[in-house]
Amino acid sequence: MKNIDIIQPSSVIGMLGDGQLGKMSALAGAYLGYKFAVLGPIGRDSSAGQVAWWAETWGDGYSNDGKIEQFAYLVCTSGGVVTLEWENVPLHLIARLEALGVVVRPGANVLKVAQDRLLEKECATQCGIPTANYLPISTDDELRFAHAQSQFPAILKTRCDGYDGKGQIRVMSHESLAEAWDKLKNVPCVLEEVVDFDCEVSVIIARRPLWAKGAGSVVMYGPIRNMHRNGILYESQYPAFVSEAIAEQARKHTLRIADLLELHGLLTIEFFVSKDGRVLFNEMAPRPHNSGHFTIECCHTSQFAQHIRAICNLPWGDPGFHSAGRMVNTLGSDVENWETYTNADGKWVVHTYGKDEAKEGRKMGHRTQLLT
Ligand code: AMP
Repeated sequence: MKNIDIIQPSSVIGMLGDGQLGKMSALAGAYLGYKFAVLGPIGRDSSAGQVAWWAETWGDGYSNDGKIEQFAYLVCTSGGVVTLEWENVPLHLIARLEALGVVVRPGANVLKVAQDRLLEKECATQCGIPTANYLPISTDDELRFAHAQSQFPAILKTRCDGYDGKGQIRVMSHESLAEAWDKLKNVPCVLEEVVDFDCEVSVIIARRPLWAKGAGSVVMYGPIRNMHRNGILYESQYPAFVSEAIAEQARKHTLRIADLLELHGLLTIEFFVSKDGRVLFNEMAPRPHNSGHFTIECCHTSQFAQHIRAICNLPWGDPGFHSAGRMVNTLGSDVENWETYTNADGKWVVHTYGKDEAKEGRKMGHRTQLLT
């Protein structure tokens, strides 16, 4: 079923995943009058569950049958729509919800690609967008081929389920490739060249198809400059201090991918800017992104509000930045310093996600500094 109408305020938006991205989406959507039903691994006590109208766990192996059906019922009977804040929601759950009559945005076609690094890279290539050189490794033959053809150091990444630097190993020499693949349990991987990049940037795009009410087309944020530590995003900045030619390339690449995927929703693309001025595709996420958190304070319309506008077919909000800004993640036990950050000066805004356990490297909150 294609629901082309505007989703009316007071409808229920179903959110798959219950982390901080769901929390900030639910808060933005609440301003627009929507109620949020959240289904995720933690449920009511999760970051998103704490601010949702309804929250439940989906259960181990997505076994919480009654609650999954109730989630679909609440969305359908209110004329709402389902979206997500975590791209690894299994496609069988999406299919089950669709069979119950639910509309999911972005759809399974986008998720399928975003869940697999190899499909992502193939999608970029299909759009004529360069990537770092890579080879797939899923069999012993492919391992031997990659061993023979690749230069080292290189980075071995699992095709699926990697995040925040997890599921990837820097392989220093030919000899250590087989061992690295064993460490990753011999799951399907890609072996990537190490890019000697000048910087990393992301672009966030909201798009809906032309058939949707509220007019088709797109709005974009960025490029935003990103800095990582141990594979985890640490800091983002806008402006990105790249040339206009690079900024334009990054936006064009992003638009091409969103068009190819017929995106209905929000999508973030991360790029490496090489020292010779090329904009190489790295990865995509079909949801609001950590690098866009400061759009809450720095833009006329945040990425979270735009996401809700996209999936509900509302007119776009102005994505423009009214202030330059910086976002720094609060990782692990650094969350204990929240008071220091709150008091730093009047230009920092502190966000804390309300998570119980401050595991090392876990995203516990972030802080935004307005620079102008
Ligand atoms: P990813 O999950 O692929 O985005 O990797 C996390 C971070 O690790 C990236 O944002 C980069 O800082 C670094 N990284 C990943 N792949 C490469 C690569 N091929 N070359 C250089 N750095 C990389």
